[in-house]
Amino acid sequence: MRFRTVSSRRDHEVDAAEFEGFIAALARLYPAVHAALDLERVNGSALLFRWPGTGPDPAARPSVLMAHYDVVPAGDPEAWTHPPFSGHIDGTHLWGRGTLDDKGQLVAVMEAAESLLEAGFAPARDLYFSFGNNEETAGDSAAAAAELLAGRGMTPWLVLDEGGAVAGGAFPGVTRPAAVVGVAEKGILDVELLTRDPGGHASTLPGWARRHGWRAPSPGSNAAPSRSRCRTSPRRCSGGSARTPRRRCGQCSQGCPCSAHR
Ligand SMILES: [Zn+2]
Repeated sequence: MRFRTVSSRRDHEVDAAEFEGFIAALARLYPAVHAALDLERVNGSALLFRWPGTGPDPAARPSVLMAHYDVVPAGDPEAWTHPPFSGHIDGTHLWGRGTLDDKGQLVAVMEAAESLLEAGFAPARDLYFSFGNNEETAGDSAAAAAELLAGRGMTPWLVLDEGGAVAGGAFPGVTRPAAVVGVAEKGILDVELLTRDPGGHASTLPGWARRHGWRAPSPGSNAAPSRSRCRTSPRRCSGGSARTPRRRCGQCSQGCPCSAHR
């Protein structure tokens, strides 16, 4: 955490000595990984480790675990509870710029590999660790590593990059900490949305309101329209018979025999 591996789009603002210091510290901290895995530099300061697989299928496609060790600037150090590059441990938490994004993930990979090597483990298929040095500035090292592997005819079986955190209060109604499993990189989606309706009161569009069980407020009332409550449980909603055919239920979207939706 003490290495100020701060990214910048302006080369002269990148302190190369801090990046080299971090790389040297990794070699000191993870000797088994550095002894057993091949290591090559990509694009100068990005690292690509290869842990050779020993499984029966030499053509098995490799897995790639990614992380990056550059960080965004820390801003005003006075604004931090503990200095951003102190690596302060307060008994429960490690403080510093990059603990979450993304040196934590990088170190988790290295710790796991180091202990697995000490335990005599060898992966079935080749395993790559691709550690970037300029992710925060949308730099080119990850792309260079991908090109390098592609140029060797390699199509990974799995690529795992940094993802979301275990977050509290991230979703309405979820009170416990929740982890998000990300299965794709975010991108851009342009949507043009067109609706047609005869119009009506801005808060109660007629067609939509009927379909969703809204009732118009009584004339002269300022109260918001209230949704008529269906007391039929979602389980019972799947019922219905020849006499009480299924109707769309606003609560469970299944057939609802209750009078509110008949
Ligand atoms: Zn990140």
